[in-house]
Amino acid sequence: MRGLLTPGVVARLLFAGLLAVLTEAAGVGLVGTATWMIVRAADQPPLAALAVAIAAVRAFALLKGGIRYAERLAGHDVVLRVLADLRARAFAGLTARGDAAPGGDALSRVVSDVDAVQDLLLRAVLPAGVAAVVGLAAVAGVGAADPRAGAVLAGGLLIAGVLLPALGNVLARTGPASAAAIARTRGEVAQSTVDLAHGAAELIAFGAMPAALAEASARSRRLARLEARSAAVSGLVTGAAALVPAGVALAVAVLVQGSAAPVLALVALTVGEVVVPLAAAAARQGEVRAAVGRIREIAADAPEPSGAQPVQRAWAGAVPLRLHGVTVRYPHGGRAALDGVDLDLPAGRRVAVVGASGAGKSTLLDAIAGRAPVTGGRVDGLPEGAEPWQVAGGVFADAHVFHDTVRENLTLGRDGFGDDELGAALEAAGLGEYAGRLDDIVGEDGGRLSGGQRQRLLLARALLDPPPILLLDEPTEGLDPAAADAVLATALRAAGERTVVMVTHRQADLKLFDEVVTVDDGRLTATGG
Ligand code: ADP
Ligand code: MG
Repeated sequence: MRGLLTPGVVARLLFAGLLAVLTEAAGVGLVGTATWMIVRAADQPPLAALAVAIAAVRAFALLKGGIRYAERLAGHDVVLRVLADLRARAFAGLTARGDAAPGGDALSRVVSDVDAVQDLLLRAVLPAGVAAVVGLAAVAGVGAADPRAGAVLAGGLLIAGVLLPALGNVLARTGPASAAAIARTRGEVAQSTVDLAHGAAELIAFGAMPAALAEASARSRRLARLEARSAAVSGLVTGAAALVPAGVALAVAVLVQGSAAPVLALVALTVGEVVVPLAAAAARQGEVRAAVGRIREIAADAPEPSGAQPVQRAWAGAVPLRLHGVTVRYPHGGRAALDGVDLDLPAGRRVAVVGASGAGKSTLLDAIAGRAPVTGGRVDGLPEGAEPWQVAGGVFADAHVFHDTVRENLTLGRDGFGDDELGAALEAAGLGEYAGRLDDIVGEDGGRLSGGQRQRLLLARALLDPPPILLLDEPTEGLDPAAADAVLATALRAAGERTVVMVTHRQADLKLFDEVVTVDDGRLTATGG
């Protein structure tokens, strides 16, 4: 994957691997010296003869725990760095494709695929490297003490660390319960679920629900069967691998004579356990490889990171807009949410929008801002080269407060706004107390703010670099009447010469506007000034 394994990442991986090797070495040293000490103590030697061994056991025990801790830190640190980078690229790739709206099935697939990369690094690549180094060193050491024990250990390591993982890998890639077959069936189950959830109304209308349900349960049972079979296969392979160290230890104990026998046998047992997890990891490799392939393909579509975002400012000049017979029909929405609406918005006009809940007020603002699916009529007046969001925007009904700082919630990722500008926007929205606390986190959907503060934060976002047409959907909702009056007055002052279209329920607001339009069931029924 392009640039994923940078020299820095490789160096960190090697460091984590080195720590893991040291951990295993300390474990082997601990078992070796402890066994030697117990064997030696049986002869009841003077305590002084055991002093070095006692110190060594303590040192190995402390080292093992300490280094293991450092190894886990180092290993997860590098893997989480890689994952963060990979997620960003996969998301960018997904967005660049445009064929899958982020948030849907594709995104959840990407998330689990990225996690598979974590498995690849933490459970396969690192352990395999560590097992190779520790295994070779142990075979050399044990072989030097007793060549036959060295040969038995080498044989056992080959069986548990190479042969059985290879077998597990082959079984997982072939046969009726292969990783590919499981992935395919899982896709079918997901498809059934989506069909049932989104198509429920149609399925019921055509009497096809029972058949669709039966099909979905059959697929789900088939998936369960395949997964059980695959788990049985990998369980057998792992179980066989787990038996090997015990067999090796027994063989060494039988082959080797004298007091070295228990030491070598237990060392062989400890080393053997290092390779046992490889069988399970290898059995998952088919799945992991497929996941990595998908991620690689998606991340390849990501545009090169472009560095800091340039400042994207609102359109400079005044913009008169005119709506001609604008009709909005939401997909699956039934009747039109907006039905042939004409509205003239000369520059500087201040329009209040009133109407019952569900009448279409928010949809009207969305249509002006180019956010609604306009299926009939047109909006005239967008200047050549201007994006709709540069011309009209503000506080929308579905505005979201992000779990981030006040600053990020105001700029929404755009660079180039000075603290003084941010402070002025907060001041204008009546949230001046946060001007000096731009880096405070506001909580999930603004959960650490009061309802009124959250609303003011949204208003401040709208007043930071406001476009020529300022759209405000109930901007003072949640404020008490006196605060609402004050905030609206400062907001309108901040709006200056701009066009303002505001949805409100407050009778008291109306006198501040040039024109009041009433929306009823998707139509403009009355206008007054
Ligand atoms: P208001 O702001 O006046 O309360 P809205 O403009 O939010 O009304 O909604 C007008 C109509 O459009 C309602 O019937 C609502 O259910 C429907 N509607 C709004 N948004 C959507 C959407 N995203 N998808 C489908 N229907 C929607
Ligand atoms: Mg609304």
